Amino acid sequence: MEMRAVRLVQVGKPLEESDIPIPEIGSSDILIRVAAAGICHSDVHYRAGISKIDRLPLSLGHEVAGRVKEVGSDVTHLSAGDRVCVHYLVSCGSCEFCVRGLEQFCRSGQMIGKHRDGGYAEFIKVPGANAFPFSNEIPFEVGAIMMCSSATALHALNKARFKAGDSIAIFGFGGLGFSALQLARAFDCGEIYVVEINPAKLVSAASMGAIAIDARSADPVEQVKEATAGKGVDVALELIGSAKTMRQAVLCLRPLGRAALVGLTAESMSILPYTELINKEAEIIGVSDHLATEVPALIEFARNGKLRFPPETLRVVDLDAAQINAALDALEDSIDHVRTVIVPSSDK
Ligand SMILES: [Zn+2]
Ligand SMILES: [Zn+2]
Repeated sequence: MEMRAVRLVQVGKPLEESDIPIPEIGSSDILIRVAAAGICHSDVHYRAGISKIDRLPLSLGHEVAGRVKEVGSDVTHLSAGDRVCVHYLVSCGSCEFCVRGLEQFCRSGQMIGKHRDGGYAEFIKVPGANAFPFSNEIPFEVGAIMMCSSATALHALNKARFKAGDSIAIFGFGGLGFSALQLARAFDCGEIYVVEINPAKLVSAASMGAIAIDARSADPVEQVKEATAGKGVDVALELIGSAKTMRQAVLCLRPLGRAALVGLTAESMSILPYTELINKEAEIIGVSDHLATEVPALIEFARNGKLRFPPETLRVVDLDAAQINAALDALEDSIDHVRTVIVPSSDK
């Protein structure tokens, strides 16, 4: 039995469509008929060779939702027909990190759509432990795309020990920021400041209840300080990946504040230990990926409408190489919140 897949065959070249065998599952696996697969900025990096993929050809796609087609004999929490979304980190379950629920550090961890075949296909095989059931109230498209940037935004808030009443400054209002703002509100937060230089994003953040801080007009740290009567915020999230904004995130903290750094950069950041960190007992926290244990809370936020991706923020393409390559091309300079999701035509 064969299926259609859109695969990276050669780095730097467009993805190619091919017919490959439907994967055979082991006793701990499930086979999912893919109903939606998000096209992510990481996929642009894989295609371009910026993030290296060892084994080619490979079906990309780490933001996956669909219906369970087949269940391995050892998988007890799922049945054929269930709607599921996929946690993209496949881990061993038995190393020193996995047993503590810290699977992002698993020594033999694999990422779906990077180290093993992903969701740009009609079917995907994943370990049963990576599949989480969700109800009809969440569209497949949302179930797919929330498993990357939304899950990481939630992990960042958890790592920063974000709690009800806390104020927050969000640096960068792309996909992560869009989710982080909604999740912060779902936590019943205090004031939300969104720091951006893009006017359209500032307008969008304000329309979602944030106080827009235009970093082009004046120092954003001064602006946050002024808006908080000199105190600063409890939590700052840096989602851009720049040493400058990371430093700003730390500087706008109040005493006992936590800065969670999510954006990636190879630049070094300077901090004056005494005046900027120690005497405030401030914390700088690194954030990497997210955890399977956080997925149920994410599903619940999507189910009760606290995490939303309105239809105008989603664009659907078919499981078609030309359409997917065009979406990857467009993603590089995308400045809006439109996310492209592959919906194989048999599921439309
Ligand atoms: Zn992604
Ligand atoms: Zn492990």
